[in-house]
Formats: sequence, C-alpha cells, structure tokens
Amino acid sequence: MNPLQNLEKMVEDYVRQLAEETDEFRKSAAFKEYLDTMSRFWQYSYNNQLLIHVQKPNASRVAGFRKWNDFGRHIKAGSKAIKILAPYAKKTKEKDTLTGEEKEVVRTYFWPVNVFDISQTDGKELPKIDIEVTGDSHKNVLDKLLAYCATRNITVEFKDLGINGLYGYSQGGKIAIDSKQAVNMQVSTLVHEIAHELLHQSPEGKKFSKNEKELQAESTAYVVCKSLGLNPKSPNYLVLYKADKDKIMANMEIISGMAKGILEYTNGKISIPAILTISTSQIFNSVF
Ligand SMILES: [Zn+2]
Repeated sequence: MNPLQNLEKMVEDYVRQLAEETDEFRKSAAFKEYLDTMSRFWQYSYNNQLLIHVQKPNASRVAGFRKWNDFGRHIKAGSKAIKILAPYAKKTKEKDTLTGEEKEVVRTYFWPVNVFDISQTDGKELPKIDIEVTGDSHKNVLDKLLAYCATRNITVEFKDLGINGLYGYSQGGKIAIDSKQAVNMQVSTLVHEIAHELLHQSPEGKKFSKNEKELQAESTAYVVCKSLGLNPKSPNYLVLYKADKDKIMANMEIISGMAKGILEYTNGKISIPAILTISTSQIFNSVF
C-alpha cells in the first residue's frame, strides 16, 4: 500500500469510529441529563431575544430569579436585571358595538419581567458537555495550518472572543480563533473553521443546513486531530447538532476529502488544494 492509500484508509477508519462514538454518546446518561436541564430553560420569542441582546449582548443562558434558584444557583448581589415582556391573558367584559350586549372577551397584555444571564449567577454547576481539546503540545501543527491558510488566501486572527464558549468563527476569507484557548484546542478549532471556509462559502456549500455544516466541519476536525494523536471530543459537539451514525457516514466523502487535503499539507507531502478533491456531485450525492 502506498502512503496515500494508507492515509485514505486511516481517514475513513476515523470517520467510522467517529460515527460509532457519536451514537454511543447520544445514548449516554450525561447527554440525557444535559438535555433534561436545557429543556427546562424557556425558549424566548424573537422580540424577547432582541430585548435580551440589547441589554446584555453577551448573554448566553437566561432565566428568572426562581428558575435559577431551582437550579441551585442564585443571583449575584448588584446584578442588573434584564427586562423582557411576558404575555398574560386577562378576561374583561366588553359591550358589543352592534347588539349592545355585554360579553366576556380575553385580551393578551404584556408585562415586564426580570431575567438574569448565567454570568450574573453563581452556585451549582449546570450539566455541561465537554468539547475542549486540552494541552499545548501541537504548536508546530498550528503553524503549519496557518501556512496552509495563507496558501488559500484565508487570513487568521487570534483574539479574545469573550466568555460564551465561542472558540472561533469563519467569515469568508477570514477566520478568528479565541486567543484564550489551549494550543491544541486552537488546532482543532482552526481545522473546523478551515472546513467551513473551503466547504461552505461557495453557492453550493451555502445550501447545506446549519446542522450539516457543523457535522462536516467538526468531523473533519475530529479526523485531523485523531491522526495527530490528540483526543477530540467531537461526538459531544456533534450530538448538539443532531448528528448520528447514519448522517456522519452519509458525509464520508466530503469529510474524508477535506481531512485528507489538510493532512497531506500538514504532513508535508503534497499541497493539493483540498477543495479540488471534492466535486459538486459528490457534495450533493450525500444524503441528509
Ligand atoms: Zn462550526
């Protein structure tokens, strides 16, 4: 077997392994507990989401005073409440303008309600899903990935992305990576964002759903990290985007093509642009 066939087999084995691990995590008690907790948070309307954003742009998880107490957390002294509008129904008697008859009608009114962001509370930890890759051992790979980005005209900026678990993002020709993260997490994030750049900026790539995009990007990060000897927690991330074994396997060609392209470059073999290894028909033959 030549080295390229070896790479191909290794990459496909890792995609299969990821598919198995993701299904296992979906069935785990840890994931069930996480879902149970998250389902107890109210889903706010679009208008209330706007109100929250205007008053506290970094808010990530918001609930009322009593709900936080139920979770074993309390509001820190001096925290400024976020005001949202809660609907309530009120029965009133109104005269029918035509018949003059009095009848009961139900009207909806809005009332300001105080909520607080998780950053304004402390106490018992909420169940969390660990998605971080730890350690600083792979600085040399990070440098190679940056060189790879330069060949693709992608600029990479390291900056503080705040407190809300945002590790990085891609904007079309530009990637930002959280400077606070461990080097190995930056490696994983950079691979994830490179996959978004190369797979999801074209008109065809933009047609994928958010869940499909995350599946393809994070699976690529998993395969690259695994082959570098890192311990990625991608199954934990992927279940948040409704991925399962079948969906991952249906994206085998896209994921392995992308991962191979990056690994061929970082391993210093050949610098075939990864995007050329994936044809549009392959992208659209993947079933979702
Ligand atoms: Zn992403």
